[in-house]
Amino acid sequence: MSTDFTTTRRAFYLPDGVTYLDGNSLGPMPLAARQRVADMMADEWSQMLITGWNKAGWYVQPRLVGDRIARLIGAGAGQVVMGDTLSIKVFQAVSAARVLRPDRRVILSDSGNFPSDLYVAQGLAKAVGAELRVVAPEDVEAAINDDLAVLMITEVDYRTGRRHDMKALTATAHQHGALTVWDLAHSAGAVDVDLLGADADFAVGCTYKYLNGGPGAPAFIWTNPRLAEQAEPILQGWMGHAAPFAFDMEYRPAPGIERMRVGTPPVIAMTALDAALDVWDGVDMAELRARSIELTEAFIAGVEANCPDVTLNSPRDPSLRGSQVSFRHPHAYAVMQALIAQGVVGDFRAPDVLRFGFAPLYNDPSDVARAVDILGKILRSGSWDRPDFHQKAAVT
Ligand SMILES: *Cc1c(COP(=O)(O)O)cnc(C)c1O
Repeated sequence: MSTDFTTTRRAFYLPDGVTYLDGNSLGPMPLAARQRVADMMADEWSQMLITGWNKAGWYVQPRLVGDRIARLIGAGAGQVVMGDTLSIKVFQAVSAARVLRPDRRVILSDSGNFPSDLYVAQGLAKAVGAELRVVAPEDVEAAINDDLAVLMITEVDYRTGRRHDMKALTATAHQHGALTVWDLAHSAGAVDVDLLGADADFAVGCTYKYLNGGPGAPAFIWTNPRLAEQAEPILQGWMGHAAPFAFDMEYRPAPGIERMRVGTPPVIAMTALDAALDVWDGVDMAELRARSIELTEAFIAGVEANCPDVTLNSPRDPSLRGSQVSFRHPHAYAVMQALIAQGVVGDFRAPDVLRFGFAPLYNDPSDVARAVDILGKILRSGSWDRPDFHQKAAVT
C-alpha cells in the first residue's frame, strides 16, 4: 500500500490561515462527516423514527464501527465495540481485569498517565478495597511484581509524548501473573499499535483526537479474544445483556465484546465518526508512523535551531515518542496564546508545557516550517508578553 498524504489532507476542513497542531486534543472536521450527519438527519432520524434502529442499522453500528478501528490498532474483527466516554471505558477495562485477579489488590500506573484514568482507578480502588500504586514512567517495569492485579498504562504520555513499550511491559506483567489495560488515547491513529502482537489484555481509547470523530465522539474498548468470554463487565447495562429485548430481571453478559456495551449508543456522534473513518481506508499504519517521525524530527530540529528559551520535553529518540512533541517555557501559557493569535494552534499543559500534535493525515512539512518560523519570531521579540495573552480561559 502507498498512502497518499496529499489526498488525505484534502479530506479535512482546515480553516484558512490556520496551522493546526492540536489534533491530539480534537481532530479537525472531515468533510465527509458533515455530509453524512446531514444525510442521517434527513433520511434516517426524520423518516424512519424508531425503526432506524433496525432499518438504518443503528443498533449494530457500535460493533461495525469498532471493526474499522480494530484494523488501526492491531486487533481483529469482532473484537472492538464503541460507546460512552473514554473515562467510562477505562473503568470497565480496569474493573473487568481486577475481577479476573480476585486475590490481588494492586493496580499499578504511572505519574505520566492522564488524570482521568488515575481518578477512575482511585474511585474503583475505594469501592473494591484495591490499592492504586503510581510510580514514575521510567520505573514502571521495575515496579511490576506478584502483588499486581492490573497494570494500567497510557501508551503515549499526553504531555511529553513518551511512548511505553507495550510488548515488553505486557510480557513482564504476564510473567508476574498480572493483566494489562492499555489506554490508546494518544496512540490510535497516531502510531502503529499492535495489540494482538503484544498480547495485551484490554485496551481502550477515544476517537475525537487522532481519529477525528468530533467533540464527544464515542470511545472504544477491546478485549483480547482469549479473555472475551470470561471478562465480567462490572458496569452491567442492558445493551451489554445477552438478550436486551427479553427484559430479564437478571443480567447475563452478551457473547464476546458486545458485553462491554452499556446503554443506548450516541447514534449521531457515531455517524460522524463512521464518516471520519473513511479516510483511514487507504492508510498504511507503518507509512503513517514513518511520516509522523519525519514531521516531529523536523519540528524538533527547527525549534532547537530557531527558538530561544525552550527546552525539549519529549524523548529525543523518535522510537520512544508518539506523534506529539512538547517544549517547556516558563511562560508557556502566554507563548501559546501568542502563537494561536497568529494561526498556529497547539496547546498549553500545566505547568509550563507547549504541546504540538502532528497528524500525518493533514499536517505536512509546510506546517512544520510555519510553526517554527512564527514561534521563533514570538520568542525572539518577546511579543508574547502582553496582558491579554496571560488571561487563562476555562479550557486550555
Ligand atoms: C483524552 C484522554 C482522556 C479523556 O477521557 P474522556 O472520558 O474522553 O474525557 C482520558 N484518558 C487519556 C489518557 C486521555 O488522553
